[in-house]
Amino acid sequence: MVMIDAHLHLGSIPSGKKNWGSFTEYKKIAKKIGIEKYCVVPIGLPKNFADKTTPDNNSILKEAEKNKSLIPVYWFNVFDLPKSVDERYKAIKLHSDIGKIDIDNKRVVNFVNKINLPVFVHTNESKEYTSLGKVSKLAKKVEVPVIAVHSGSVTGTFFKLDNYEFPDNVYFETSGIQYSVILKKIYERFGAERIIFGSDYPFGDPRVSLAMIDTLEASKKEYKLMTEGNIKKILKLK
Ligand SMILES: [Zn+2]
Repeated sequence: MVMIDAHLHLGSIPSGKKNWGSFTEYKKIAKKIGIEKYCVVPIGLPKNFADKTTPDNNSILKEAEKNKSLIPVYWFNVFDLPKSVDERYKAIKLHSDIGKIDIDNKRVVNFVNKINLPVFVHTNESKEYTSLGKVSKLAKKVEVPVIAVHSGSVTGTFFKLDNYEFPDNVYFETSGIQYSVILKKIYERFGAERIIFGSDYPFGDPRVSLAMIDTLEASKKEYKLMTEGNIKKILKLK
């Protein structure tokens, strides 16, 4: 079984006297469980969220030079937009908690359309500006695949999901989902073709996301789509 982890961060979380997680640790876990490739964004540090500054995107390209398993993803910040994005990046990512920006904010829509790469967006249904409703609105205004990281995350997602209609370019990522029933509802409504395995390491762990996917009791073929095929197609990987 070859898998691709569609979402993780390069770096550790500093808290107390400790740095939690490391890319070295991630690589060990990946090797152990058969993750062959991984889509990596830099880590957003508390300082980035406080100052509305951009995490260290260059750290990703540097690491990618040494590691062929790494698929670079660019973290974009609407307060600090670049004119262009290095062609080694295969996708871009928005975390709207920097500046509390609506996922379908005009600056986001314009940037996504200009760069024309698949876009990952952090979602949390408990905040209006990061709801799945906003994901749907963004997806209708762009042509590229839109991947809802955490699939809305909280319990409210389970109930609100029925109120939203999603265009076909919306995908649901598995990290940070509070309850398995949320993923089960997504699976029932949209199918395995729209679910994407991601870990959000070092916040999450790929083994947690795989356990979530296990609760779907999907066929082998569907499991492969969720853990490899869908993201491969979205990012046009060989
Ligand atoms: Zn993340």
